[in-house]
Amino acid sequence: MSSITTRLVLTYFFIMLITLLIFSYYITTTMKTYLYNDVKLNSTTMSNVVASFAVDYMDPESGVLDKESFERFLGELGLDSEMRVMVLARDMTVLYDSQNNRNVLGTAQVRPSVVSAINGTDGFAEYSGEGGIVTLDASAPVLDADGEVVGVVNIVRVPETAGKFIDAIITEMIFLIIIFSLLVGVIIFVVANLVTKRIVDFTSKITSMSDDGILDEKLDISGHDEISRLGEAFNTMSEKVVMLERQRVQFVSDASHELKTPLSSIKLMADSILQNPDISMDYVREFMTDMNNEADRLNRIVNKLLYITKMDARSSEDNKNLELISLNDIVSGIERNLQPLAKKADITLVFSTPGEIFLFANKDVLWQGIYNIVDNAIKYTDADGYVLVAMEQTAGKVIIEVRDTGVGIASEDIDKIFDRFYRVDKARDRATGGTGLGLSIALSAIAYHNGWIDVESEPGKGSTFRITLPDTAPESDEEA
Ligand code: ADP
Repeated sequence: MSSITTRLVLTYFFIMLITLLIFSYYITTTMKTYLYNDVKLNSTTMSNVVASFAVDYMDPESGVLDKESFERFLGELGLDSEMRVMVLARDMTVLYDSQNNRNVLGTAQVRPSVVSAINGTDGFAEYSGEGGIVTLDASAPVLDADGEVVGVVNIVRVPETAGKFIDAIITEMIFLIIIFSLLVGVIIFVVANLVTKRIVDFTSKITSMSDDGILDEKLDISGHDEISRLGEAFNTMSEKVVMLERQRVQFVSDASHELKTPLSSIKLMADSILQNPDISMDYVREFMTDMNNEADRLNRIVNKLLYITKMDARSSEDNKNLELISLNDIVSGIERNLQPLAKKADITLVFSTPGEIFLFANKDVLWQGIYNIVDNAIKYTDADGYVLVAMEQTAGKVIIEVRDTGVGIASEDIDKIFDRFYRVDKARDRATGGTGLGLSIALSAIAYHNGWIDVESEPGKGSTFRITLPDTAPESDEEA
């Protein structure tokens, strides 16, 4: 039995047992009080009824009781067999005893209830004997026509029937509590086992998945309860893990391929030089220039790969190190860097800003985000074209729009250009020195700031990349 089952069964069992015991105790004590009160009332009433008739069987002068007629009257009244009826004279001596006990006849019964009846008021007393046996003692005055006390009717009663009735109920309740507790215990055990069985099944499946390294298996889910939702959450997580693993393998394979191409060219050209001793100096120089370009390309790819790895690690960090910075500073730095490139390509590069814009950002990361997009706009625009970088600050947002009159992007490619190593036109890319990593770096850099990038483009006419950044202060900075 698993520990959850044990805990559930024991907890429910004890809660139920305690509840039933409290409930039963309450019911039996209430019943007891009710029954005793009823018997008490009954004794007092009876003593009064008998007293009001007893006067008819008594000689008011001599105080002598017509026992036979009185006994007949009692028989007709149908008294409870528990009741012992006594008629006492004014001097408290016993004139009549329904139990026919000769020992008490003629003796004086000086008891509080009798004394109070002699004094003209109903009397009642209750005695507890050995073993908790209760005796009820009720007396009523027998009055003559003038209202004078001529005697007393005394009823003594041991309410055994009520006591037995309550004992029977208590026994019955204990029996029911035991049966009920056992029954509920079994039901809870079965239900708890059904619930924990699914958790146990999930655990063993997850353990075997992680032991065997097979992550793309699914847990079998039935129902819509919390455990099913736990299973669904696990399945979603394992899907994501599998997807990330696929992306990682793809990335390593793409990166290796991208590195291999320039390396193969370098190797080929070096071999040509080495295997051809008569090669002219002009050829050597030409090959060396190509080799130099390929080495530059290798360098660019490796630098970008290193940057991507660094960004992947930083994105998952909680503290993003954002500070209040001037966007104009970043953009004018990018302008200084790229203006010579634009001039060389006969492209007019224009920057426009409505004024100083401040926002919470990481300077280096945001630089990468904007730089790569402006760099692309220049790379993919032909001579005499235009590249316009415009900034705008609206409610809660900063927008940086990079518009070019370049080659544009076909709609089917727009979704893919942010993928690592994706290039629309590989031939053009070789000429521009592209690696297929610029936009994926830009996207990570903007996502790092909780922003996003929209692209609109028309092949042959140009493209617009719109970066949107929230300009609200991050929570941690606000607190600081
Ligand atoms: P690359 O290093 O090849 O430029 P990017 O990831 O920066 O890699 O871009 C991916 C592809 O998206 C590029 O190869 C290019 O085909 C296309 N692209 C990016 N920016 C533009 C643009 N402004 N105009 C046209 N095509 C673009």
